[in-house]
Amino acid sequence: MSERFDIVVVGAGITGAATAYHLMKRGGRTVLLLEREAPAAGGTGKSAAIIRQHYSTPVLSRLTRETIDLYREMPAELGSDGGYVASGWCFLLPADLRAGAEANIAMQREIGIDTRFLEPGEISTHLPEIVTDGIDRVAYEVDGGYADPVTTTEALVAAFRDLGGTYRQRQPVRSLLREGDRITGIETDDEQVLAGTVVNAAGPWAKTLAEGVGLSLPLRAVREQDTIWEVRPGRPIPSVSVSNAVDAIYLRPLGERRFVIGRGFPKDYQDVDPQNYKLTADEDFIAEVQVRAEARFPAFAGMALIGSYAALYDVTPDWYPFYGPRSEVAGYVDACGGSGHGFKLGPAAGRALADWILDGETDKDFAALSHDRVAAGRLFTQAYGGNRG
Ligand SMILES: Cc1cc2nc3c(=O)[nH]c(=O)nc-3n(C[C@H](O)[C@H](O)[C@H](O)COP(=O)(O)OP(=O)(O)OC[C@H]3O[C@@H](n4cnc5c(N)ncnc54)[C@H](O)[C@@H]3O)c2cc1C
Repeated sequence: MSERFDIVVVGAGITGAATAYHLMKRGGRTVLLLEREAPAAGGTGKSAAIIRQHYSTPVLSRLTRETIDLYREMPAELGSDGGYVASGWCFLLPADLRAGAEANIAMQREIGIDTRFLEPGEISTHLPEIVTDGIDRVAYEVDGGYADPVTTTEALVAAFRDLGGTYRQRQPVRSLLREGDRITGIETDDEQVLAGTVVNAAGPWAKTLAEGVGLSLPLRAVREQDTIWEVRPGRPIPSVSVSNAVDAIYLRPLGERRFVIGRGFPKDYQDVDPQNYKLTADEDFIAEVQVRAEARFPAFAGMALIGSYAALYDVTPDWYPFYGPRSEVAGYVDACGGSGHGFKLGPAAGRALADWILDGETDKDFAALSHDRVAAGRLFTQAYGGNRG
C-alpha cells in the first residue's frame, strides 16, 4: 500500500525548507519533505547569500523585506539567527544606471524600505579607502547584509520536524505521479507516496521532474563561481555587502577579514548539464575577480585565496522565479527558478507559497510569479541587470 500525505515537498534547499516549515506552522496538514542529499545540498549551500531589497519590481522588493523581518523573528521562532548580519548593503552604480536606480529607490521607499543614495562624504564610512573612479552613485540599504545559507536551511528543517513534519533525506524523488490533469504524488526507489499537492522545489533539477510528467519547465542550469579570500591585516576594510555594477563583482564579509567575492552582471552565463558540471572554479575567473577587487579596494592588495567553487543557478526566461500552482494541472506547485537571487527571496516566498497552498489564493503580485505567465506571454521585463545575482 502507498503512503499518503496532504503535501509532499521535493527538495530541502531554502525554498523547499521554508515552504515546508510554513506549511507545518499553519498546521492541520500532513507534510513530507524529501531531500536527495542533505539540507542546502544544492545552490543554497554555495550561495553568497547576500541580502538586499533593491529590485525593480515591487513584489521582489517586498519579499526580500519580509525575509529580513523573518530573520529578525528567527532567534525566537527557530532558536537560530540563521547567520543573518544586518551589515548594510552598498550598490556601486555607473552613471548609465543612475536613472533606473533612482526609480527603484523611490519605489522601494514607498513600500517601507530604508534605502537611499549615500552622500559622497558618507561612502568611506562603509567602504573605507575605496577607489571612486567610475562610480556615479552608491545606493545603500540599512537592513541589507548577508546570512548563512546552510544554518538558515538547517534551522528551518529542524523547526519543520519539531512541528511534526516528516523529513527524509538521501531520498531522491525519481518521478512525479500524474493521472490526467492532476499530479497525485511522487515515486522514490522504495515507494510511491500519494499527495494532494506536490511542491517542486528541486532547484535546477526541478525541470527533469516536471518534464517527466509532461509539464514544461523552462529552466536553464547556469554555472556560477565564487571565491573566498583573506585580506591582509592593517588597513580598514568594507563592513557591508557590496554589489558593484561598475566592475561587475559582488562581495560580502565572511568572518574576520574574509570575503566571498564573485562576478556580477554583466558577465557570460555558462549553461551546463545539472547532473554533470565542473564543481571547481576556473583559474582565469579567480584571477579576474582578484584584479577587479584589488583595483577597487586597495586594502585587498595581496589577498590570499582561501577557497573557490562552482554551483548552479536555476534560471527562468525572465530571471524571475516560478512560484505557485499553475492552471494546466491540479495538485502541483512550482517553487524553483531562483535565477541567481533566490536565497533572499526563499524565506518569505516559502511563507507566501504555504499560504497560497492552504488558502487556495494569494495576492495579485505574488500570483504573477506563477509559471502561468509563460503561456500567457506575461514575462517580466528587466529595468536593468539589478535583478540578477
Ligand atoms: C554561487 C552562488 C551564489 C549565489 N549568491 C546569491 C546571493 O548572494 N543572494 C541570493 O539571494 N541568491 C544567491 N544565489 C542564488 C540562490 O542561492 C538560489 O536561488 C537559491 O539558493 C535556490 O534555492 P532552492 O531551494 O530553490 O534550490 P536548491 O538550493 O538548488 O535546492 C534544491 C534541493 O533539491 C534537492 N533535489 C534535487 N533533485 C531532487 C530529487 N529528485 N529528489 C529530492 N531532492 C532533490 C537538491 O539536493 C537541493 O537540496 C546564489 C547561487 C549560487 C550558486
